[in-house]
Amino acid sequence: MDMRVVQCPLCTLPLKPPVLQCKGGHVACGGCLAEPCRRCEHGGGFDVRSTAMDAVVSAARVQCPHDGCLTYVAYHELGDHRSACGHAPCSCPELGCSFAAPPRVLLVHLFVRHSMPAHKFQYGEDFRLLVPASEPSRRLLIGGDDGRAFLLSAGALGAATAVSVVCVRASAVLRPQYLCKMWSIMPPSQDLVVVKTKVTSSTSPGAVAAASFLTVPPRYYRVGAAGVSNSKLVPLNVRIDKI
Ligand SMILES: [Zn+2]
Ligand SMILES: [Zn+2]
Ligand SMILES: [Zn+2]
Ligand SMILES: [Zn+2]
Repeated sequence: MDMRVVQCPLCTLPLKPPVLQCKGGHVACGGCLAEPCRRCEHGGGFDVRSTAMDAVVSAARVQCPHDGCLTYVAYHELGDHRSACGHAPCSCPELGCSFAAPPRVLLVHLFVRHSMPAHKFQYGEDFRLLVPASEPSRRLLIGGDDGRAFLLSAGALGAATAVSVVCVRASAVLRPQYLCKMWSIMPPSQDLVVVKTKVTSSTSPGAVAAASFLTVPPRYYRVGAAGVSNSKLVPLNVRIDKI
């Protein structure tokens, strides 16, 4: 099928119900209904509903072009589907690497090609991590029952360390949602910094500005393992809930 048949001749966007037509039978989308018809001699308006075209545009189904996705959707729903598709390619967060693939393939790439550290966790359970203080670092968090990948990024924010978590998937995926709680405790005072946030999803997990991040001041740092120069580490507690 020539897809121009189901595109608005005026703006070339996919037609979706209700499709409108002029007295001469030329069609237009809802966004163009105020335009005069350029193909009719007297430039009539698009003021009649075309139920026949409604049926055509609903029946014109196309397959999602993402590798591994076998979903067929109405042509006018393809844009929405692509931005919410679980197989949407996600780009490698490592600087200078242009690799992009569906989340599960990207995960393997990050392990194999970049030796990115990974931590498997269970939803709803607290777990602990130590990340290098005041320097950029990344690690993967892998959900225990669904294999979902999250990218935890840490970096310097002045003398403090900022830590954020992003879900590696298309940004418009609605379900499931993930909540992330991150906190750091300073012994012996038990002073606490904490953030609780809905996890942002992105197909560019290395570039997205996460909705919120945890800022850990230097007084929370711990001295790194003996023999590892004078490195400082940030003690982190993390919990991710699936809703
Ligand atoms: Zn239009
Ligand atoms: Zn017309
Ligand atoms: Zn898809
Ligand atoms: Zn890469």
